[in-house]
Amino acid sequence: MRIVLLGAPGAGKGTQAKKLIEKYGIPQISTGDILRKAVADGTPLGKEAKSYMDKGELVPDSVVIGLVKERLAQDDCKAGFILDGFPRNTSQAETLDRVLEEMGMPLQVALSIDVDMDVLMKRLTGRRTCRQCGQMYNIYFSPPAEEGICDRCGGELYQRDDDREETIRKRLEVYQSQTAPLIEYYEKKGILRRVEGTGGIDEIFERICSILDSI
Ligand code: AMP
Repeated sequence: MRIVLLGAPGAGKGTQAKKLIEKYGIPQISTGDILRKAVADGTPLGKEAKSYMDKGELVPDSVVIGLVKERLAQDDCKAGFILDGFPRNTSQAETLDRVLEEMGMPLQVALSIDVDMDVLMKRLTGRRTCRQCGQMYNIYFSPPAEEGICDRCGGELYQRDDDREETIRKRLEVYQSQTAPLIEYYEKKGILRRVEGTGGIDEIFERICSILDSI
């Protein structure tokens, strides 16, 4: 299964991708995660990306496309993949189509997770992630038993730098102007599916699985 997950920041792409990995046994390719790792490792690429990420802007296409190409060429993507956070604009989508065509593995589905703006805001400002195991929480909807500590591994929970209110507003603006047009892009290609992204995590996952299982 070759999937692109679409949706605004906070729509739940990362959360649902993690569940899809377990069910379908295919890797998640999250450009946000790859970039955050490069920032944490202090690589030259990470240093360049950080200035854009801190402002809630998109990292230049040339940087991101190179990372994705490299990842798609790895063996574990032969059985399929879940792209999360990529493509983010029409130019990235066109390049992706070309690259996948050349590799003989075109996309099968672009799944848009739809969530209202006011819910997105609360999800993003409340989001916390475990530094150690990556488990995600939300201080409003799914808090840990003990504040700031991961239930699963005891690791420290942190707030992403770009989950602060001003940056979030910018990220949502960038989504509306640059990424939302991809919904029409994939609709025209006939591979768009939409899913209502409000409700419990498992409930949304069920909706997603029933769409994917019918493909
Ligand atoms: P995310 O975790 O997907 O919300 O991404 C966090 C940040 O990483 C974004 O606000 C961008 O600055 C950057 N980023 C992630 N994916 C992309 C992409 N496909 N193109 C450009 N920038 C990206």
